[in-house]
Amino acid sequence: MPRRRPGALRAERSPRSGRSSPPPERIHGLSARTSVAIDRVERLSGDYYVHPGATDRALRRYRAFPQPPGRRPRYPRDAECSCRGCSFEDVRHARDVLAEVLRQLPPRSRARPARQVRALDAGYAERTPPDPFAADRQWRSDLWWRRRPTGGPG
Ligand SMILES: [Zn+2]
Repeated sequence: MPRRRPGALRAERSPRSGRSSPPPERIHGLSARTSVAIDRVERLSGDYYVHPGATDRALRRYRAFPQPPGRRPRYPRDAECSCRGCSFEDVRHARDVLAEVLRQLPPRSRARPARQVRALDAGYAERTPPDPFAADRQWRSDLWWRRRPTGGPG
């Protein structure tokens, strides 16, 4: 008997109208337990930009930004549209989402993803030169990842 795809099984178990939702996809590099905690934050958050799947997407975006590896500086760019999907074009938005999710996570679930974000912070900091005029021209320049020059070759 052929094995069925997990997606097909899941669809059967939780009909659209059902009260129970399927367990969230495990986020790359994080435990199932942490992924569940993050899913809970995403579902219960009142923040428009923190929605189911947002953390995973933010991590992917943030991880991909300094790629390919090298010395060439990278410049964050404004998103063309401020909806929750398009906003991820701006890598700084991805970091904002991660900051907000970390803030909302219970302390016992926060350590591992916080460590993951710190590691990615190092890669971001290395590739983005600081902007000495950030206070005048960057929105939310109190956030270190926003004190970076914008635009230029992507
Ligand atoms: Zn949009």
